[in-house]
Amino acid sequence: MHSQAEQFQLYELLNALLDDELSPEARAQLEVHLCECESCRSFFESLRQTLELYHRLDEHNPALPHAVEERLRRFIKQKQICKS
Ligand SMILES: [Zn+2]
Repeated sequence: MHSQAEQFQLYELLNALLDDELSPEARAQLEVHLCECESCRSFFESLRQTLELYHRLDEHNPALPHAVEERLRRFIKQKQICKS
C-alpha cells in the first residue's frame, strides 16, 4: 500500500508517461517500482482495461488520442515481463 503522497507522485509520473514527458531516469524508476509493487501493477492494469472499454464504447472517442493509448499499452506490456 501507498501513502497518499506516494499515490499522488505515482499519478503524476503516470501523467508524464502518457504525455511522453518522462525523463529516462524517472521512467526507469517507475518501471522498477512497477516490477516490485503489486498494487501499482494492478492500478496500471485497471487503467488499461478502462482504455479498452472506452474504445469499445466509442471508437471515435476523442478523449484519449490513440497514440497515448498505444504508449500506455506498450508500457504495460513490458511490465508483464516482470511478473514472471
Ligand atoms: Zn506502488
